[in-house]
Amino acid sequence: MTEQIERSLVIVKPDGYRRGLTGEVLRRIEAKGYTLVALQVMTPDRERLAQHYAEHEGKPFYEPLVEFMSSGPATFAIIEGQGCIPGFRSLAGATNPTEAAPGSIRGDLGRDWGLKVQQNIVHGSDSPESAAREIGIWFPEA
Ligand code: GDP
Ligand code: MG
Repeated sequence: MTEQIERSLVIVKPDGYRRGLTGEVLRRIEAKGYTLVALQVMTPDRERLAQHYAEHEGKPFYEPLVEFMSSGPATFAIIEGQGCIPGFRSLAGATNPTEAAPGSIRGDLGRDWGLKVQQNIVHGSDSPESAAREIGIWFPEA
């Protein structure tokens, strides 16, 4: 099966930014063979974060997640490549860094900060529909 050339929305979250891991994440994306189509550093506003994380509204971790995500600069990227949506999810590893496999971004670079599971370095779109929606939120001109 030949996978489609597709685009995904990647975020190096504020913990990754603060820890100086932005370059390391972008290096892994490029080393995998994906292309950087757009790149922007900004502190995300709560309004767009609410849109971005709408599926999680009402869950116990929703408020802390939005609080954390708006706590400082993050790097937003559109990446492109064959199968890059599942491919980047695989590079990122499992949501909980403690459970993420070694070799993945979260497995190699993340760890459990007590209950702060939300500090897991990266976000990656989980489907073509999510990618289109998320790219529209953060890169309305794209
Ligand atoms: P992802 O697609 O792997 O990023 O995971 P989800 O879409 O399920 O969750 C979005 C984000 O919410 C995750 O990346 C974490 O930052 C955070 N999160 C998810 N589940 C939990 C949880 O059980 N506790 C906490 N504190 N944060 C969570
Ligand atoms: Mg998700």
